[in-house]
Amino acid sequence: MENEDSRFVACLLNKCPLISRFQSGGRGRVFFESDPGIAGSRAKRLKEIAGSHLRLCMLSWGSNPRMKTHLFCLFALAAVLIPTSSFGDIPPPRKPERPGGKLNLLIIDGQNNHAWKETSPVLKSIFENSGWFKVNVSTSPPALPGAPRMPKGDDSAKLDAYKKEHAKWQADVEKAKRMNQIAWNSWRPAFSNYDVVVSNYNGELWPKAIQEQFEAYVSGGGGFVAVHAANNSFPQWKAYNEMIGVGGWGGRSELSGPYLRLREDRFVNDMTPGRGGSHGARHEFHVETRAPEHPIMKGMLPKWLHMEDELYDRLRGPAKNVTVLASAFSDLSTKGSGEHEPILMTISYGSGRVFHTTLGHSTVSMGSPGFRVTLIRGAEWAAKGSVTFPAKGL
Ligand SMILES: [Zn+2]
Repeated sequence: MENEDSRFVACLLNKCPLISRFQSGGRGRVFFESDPGIAGSRAKRLKEIAGSHLRLCMLSWGSNPRMKTHLFCLFALAAVLIPTSSFGDIPPPRKPERPGGKLNLLIIDGQNNHAWKETSPVLKSIFENSGWFKVNVSTSPPALPGAPRMPKGDDSAKLDAYKKEHAKWQADVEKAKRMNQIAWNSWRPAFSNYDVVVSNYNGELWPKAIQEQFEAYVSGGGGFVAVHAANNSFPQWKAYNEMIGVGGWGGRSELSGPYLRLREDRFVNDMTPGRGGSHGARHEFHVETRAPEHPIMKGMLPKWLHMEDELYDRLRGPAKNVTVLASAFSDLSTKGSGEHEPILMTISYGSGRVFHTTLGHSTVSMGSPGFRVTLIRGAEWAAKGSVTFPAKGL
């Protein structure tokens, strides 16, 4: 069923001339074939993926409302009614290979307030299906149990129950800490064996020895890619915050460093006091290229529509050696900041290169062609300082 679903979505996408243009004439196949995110609830996944792409297509069509309605109906009907078998046999996707050989890439996960068990396989498939990377995953020890929530109001029965639950939670945490200690002592990702390390991690602070190894790896010329909530991690780790440039949540404030604000066509530091990290309602939004000559962005469209995602705003941090590659306007109507927010960034850290994408809240967001192409190109740049993976119109 998984393969049939993949082919169905690929075929649907390839039948739309506008989507083909956005996805470089059939690149949709490369993106969606073997995507583990498509397995599972078939109807739900197809609706999400096809629906979001169709909206992207329709919004890009122009100003002819009759044409919009007509095409939308056509494709919406196709998504719901036409059985997979009607499309016949789809040839297997082209499997390109990186000139000069594949790069070794390590994904770090294991703790995240996001669905890392769903998103890490999607990240892995994006990198592997590109033909540019050989991928391993290193999973950290699990997160400690979450604290129970204190009840609202002054209901004494509820408060008593909460106190008991809280005491049990404290005991569980102590037990988990003892158990996890052994696992933390043996978790030693071999960063130096890789051209680039990708973080899908947002959780406990790594042991000091691993922090030092990671700092040495990046500052010594290694590549690092921070995806979405990876920039929520480690507010207390100075070097990590220098690597990501800006981050959010975890108590970040003006003490963490400036905001990055677009003023007179360039991003500048803004030390206005306030919290670091926020986002409005999830929605589709336009991403605008800000550094068209950077190797990651060269050949990309000046502006494209991104599928439903969180638009991170008000990130702040050391903001040293940051180049903003792309931004998105965080509209007040979606409870945003009313500012153009940095979405894609590069940061130099010692001799190392960092690519930071704030995109990728979910597997749906990760289905966006713009997310995938910039992720692949960003990882290649972080690894080698140059980019050979084609932008092909995005
Ligand atoms: Zn998120």
